[in-house]
Amino acid sequence: MILTRADVNAVYCVGRNYADHARELNNPVPSSPLIFTKSPSCIVPFAGELRLPESLGRCDHELEIAVRIGESLQDASPEAALGAVSHIGLALDLTRRDAQSVLKGKGHPWDLAKSFPGACPLTPLSPVSDPASLRDRGLRLTINDEVRQVGRTGQMIFSIATLLSFLSHHIPLVASDLVLTGTPAGVGPLQDGDVLVGWLDGEALGRAVVRR
Ligand code: ZN
Repeated sequence: MILTRADVNAVYCVGRNYADHARELNNPVPSSPLIFTKSPSCIVPFAGELRLPESLGRCDHELEIAVRIGESLQDASPEAALGAVSHIGLALDLTRRDAQSVLKGKGHPWDLAKSFPGACPLTPLSPVSDPASLRDRGLRLTINDEVRQVGRTGQMIFSIATLLSFLSHHIPLVASDLVLTGTPAGVGPLQDGDVLVGWLDGEALGRAVVRR
């Protein structure tokens, strides 16, 4: 399934969902999920060229597992929430890191650092037939053939089931919502010419070149 910006109702993200990533940015490990959003209008294919003009300032890669919600969810149990996942793929939660630091310093929301043109490259998504399989999936990002980010869903602070259940108790989720489930350690700035490949369980789902 290839989703374009027009196919997605909302994009919910979780910050600091892998302890090693929280530590690398000197952030405390959260006791409840830290939720923010990206505008669906930022979705572009994780393919071809990613155009990230220098005017954005430092722009970091954050490879994340993306799940698509297939049915409405409200006050759902973790099991019911997991069962509502229809598709899985990979997304890059691209982040204007300098802009984010300024916003954080002022105690402001992060929107301007998280939503900008091309901020959410997304791979094609595959159907999820066995929800339990979501408990142990692997993700990996290589840049110029060098491994930069590696993680497994089993290492998440809040599992996909817990995360979706939590969200559904605060925000009504509907079919065609997308949830980005957090990034493992290894985030860093993108340079012109970088070749990014996103892997899900050893399968290359996304490949793109950065243009700055
Ligand atoms: Zn992220």
